This record gives sequence, structure tokens and C-alpha cells, in this order.
Amino acid sequence: MTQSASKPAPQTFHVKSFGCQMNVYDGERMTELLSARGMTPAAEGADADLVVLNTCHIREKAAEKVYSDIGRLRREDGSRPMIAVAGCVAQAEGPEITRRTKSVDIVVGPQAYHRLPGLIDDVMAGRDAVDTDMPADSKFDVLPGRARRSGTSAFLTVQEGCDKFCTYCVVPYTRGAEVSRPWRAILDEARALVDGGAREITLLGQNVNAWTGEDDKGRLQGLDGLIRALDALPDLARIRYTTSHPNDMTQGLIDAHAEVGKLMPYLHLPVQAGSDRILKAMNRSHTRESYLRVIERVRSARPDIALSGDFIVGFPGETESEFEETLSILRESAYAAAFSFKYSPRPGTPAADMADQIAAEVMDERLQRLQAEIINHQIAFNQASVGKRTTILLERKGRQPGQLVGKSPWLQSVHVEAGDARIGELIEVDLVSAGPNSLGGVIVSRQAA
Ligand code: SF4
Repeated sequence: MTQSASKPAPQTFHVKSFGCQMNVYDGERMTELLSARGMTPAAEGADADLVVLNTCHIREKAAEKVYSDIGRLRREDGSRPMIAVAGCVAQAEGPEITRRTKSVDIVVGPQAYHRLPGLIDDVMAGRDAVDTDMPADSKFDVLPGRARRSGTSAFLTVQEGCDKFCTYCVVPYTRGAEVSRPWRAILDEARALVDGGAREITLLGQNVNAWTGEDDKGRLQGLDGLIRALDALPDLARIRYTTSHPNDMTQGLIDAHAEVGKLMPYLHLPVQAGSDRILKAMNRSHTRESYLRVIERVRSARPDIALSGDFIVGFPGETESEFEETLSILRESAYAAAFSFKYSPRPGTPAADMADQIAAEVMDERLQRLQAEIINHQIAFNQASVGKRTTILLERKGRQPGQLVGKSPWLQSVHVEAGDARIGELIEVDLVSAGPNSLGGVIVSRQAA
């Protein structure tokens, strides 16, 4: 990025978020921030004066997608909107972005996006606008209050950053050290979301179950204490949290799954690999056995819980038999859903410099085998749900006229002929059919079961 001529004030904006739910949350907060400045959201980047690309750096392709998106923003007459690159690619590759393209006006990291209005002013004044600080002031103290209308299901970031330093992961470098937001700020934000119409809140953090803080009486609390406090919000129906680390699954949190009615029976608990040697090389700080013991304790507290996990195939040095240990932990864990990725070396992480990087075709073949198993587990889990009577939270329109899609307690999408039912309602349904990714339901009652 070079010092450029001053630019007119943008009136409209479009925020496009890639990657994880935390980025979705950050995108919502940026939308609120720019709206508070008097700017109007545009449905498409092509119609906006300012486009914010809120990026993800976890995988190589995600970063490459950003560059192709920047190219696509050029209009037929050769003009382009003001472009801001935010998120983890901005944090990790600020100088690289400005070297690769002259089309970016603003680079802003995930801990500095509350400064976006000032950076827009810098561009308008012809100054450079790069901010990848990890500022001491918390963005949460500066961001405006939550928008008055929330969606039915809302995200709420309670924790950011990570101290675990898995050897393949950029998060400790792009999001910084583990920080928990204060108890009161979280409860106030939750209240605002519920007042705005949210029926379900998903607590977010890179290591959400490492959240800790003092309650209003100065008592030290963990995530389970926060969940119990949220349980007391009368109009809130459902609580979820993600993403958790196996080592931070405290007994208190496991007990909350047995005792807190609003806490949904779903847990995303990444394991990444099934071989102890690979887990050690990944610096996961848990073993196959300790992971399996955690899920055993969770299942004994909440027998109907649906588990999901993350897997990386082709970590440097992974042998065929070590990969088979990944397949076997997948079978043993009986996940309801799982997410799998090929290892992708991230510059600056220890694993990127490890010997024995795995050939692309070997990774492709292993990924296909793993995904075939995952689909089988998803189908089995969904088919086992058929015949159950349960409550779904209606969240969006379906593809067919008159159809709405809701979420089961186990995070499955359920399609129903909605009749008079409306988005935001909790309704009782019979689950009558199942596919790999969704279920069909028939409404029994417009009251929750
Ligand atoms: S626990 Fe590991 S994978 Fe998860 S954010 Fe931290 S370093 Fe990354």
C-alpha cells in the first residue's frame, strides 16, 4: 500500500466473513460499528463504497480466496470500492498483502477492528491505514452496544486467543494470548441479544472452555458458572458453546451438561489425530486415551449428547498406520458430525518447518477415506434420530415454498412444512426421515416439547 490520494467518504459498506464462527461474530460487530458511523449496509460487495473482507488464515486456500475476491471487486469501468482486509490474514500477512496488491486501502487485525472508523478517515485523508496491533485497550470496551434486532440464534464471543500453541496453528499468533471477557460484559450482551429476539446463544472462543472470570460477587467462575448465569435469562431458550479443548473440560462443565436444561446436548471437541506420536508432534497436550476418557465422562453425564470433532490428515510424518489410528478413534468416538482437513503448512508455525511433509496425493487419498467414514457416522446418527419426538428452533426458510428449517437440540437441520409457524418459534416435531446432512420433521405442536 502506498500513500494515496484522498478518497470520498464511503456511504455504504459490505462485510464478507470467511472461516470460523468467531469471524462471523466479528463481522456482525463491524457491521454495527459502521452502521453507528451512519453508513448503510449493502447486500453485495459490488454495490458498496467500502468492502471489508474479514479473512481466515487457517488454511492456504482461504487466504488465496481473499486475493481472488479482491480482484473480483474491480468494476467494469475500472473503479473499485474502498477495500479493507480484516481478520487473521490481515494480522499474519499485513506486509505481504500490501506487496501482492495495490488495491487494498486498509489492513486491520482481529484485535484492532474497533479502530476501523479512524482507519477509514486515514484513507480519506490519503494516509496509510494499517493496524495490526494487539492493543492494550479491549475492542469490546469501544464497540457500540448490540444491534436492537438479533437473529434467532446469536453468537457471543466470550474468550479470544490461545496459549496452547498446537504446532500447526496460527491462532496464538494472529489472535494473541488467551483473554476472557468480563462476566458482567458478557451477561449484559446476552441480555441485549435476548431483548433483540435471540432465543439461542452460542458462546464463542478459540478455547471457549478456558473462559474464567469473577462474577458480580467476586467469586472465580469457569464457563459452567457463566452457563448457569445465562440459564437464568427468562426468554433465552438454548445455550451452546464452541470450540473446546479436551484438557479444559472441567468436571463442573461436564456436570452442567447433566444439570442445565437450556444447555443443548451437543459438544464440539476436536481431537485432530488418533496417534499419540502425532498428537505429541502437534503439541496437543492430550493423548488418545485421555481424550477418550473425557468423552466417556461427558457421555455418562449426558447420555444423549451428540459429539463432533475436527481432524487433520497428513500432518508431517504421519504414517499409514498412524492415519489408521485416526480412523479408529473416529469409530470409537461415534461422532454425530465431524470436520476434516488436509494439513496445510502455515508460515511461522513449527510444523511448517518439519521434515517429512506428506505428498498431496497421499493426503487426498487419506482425506477421502476419512470423509467416507464421517459421512457413514453422520447418516447413522441421523437415522437413529428418526422416530424421536423433539423440539426444534425454527431459524430460516427452506428451499421449498412453505418450508422452514429448524435446529434440533443435537444441531441437526430439520425441514418442516411450517403452516402457521414462524421463524424464532420453538416447536414440537416428530422426526420422520433422515439424510446425511438433514432430517425431515412433522409438526406435532407449536409449543416446545
Ligand atoms: S488449541 Fe491448538 S488448534 Fe485450537 S486455537 Fe489453540 S493452538 Fe489453535
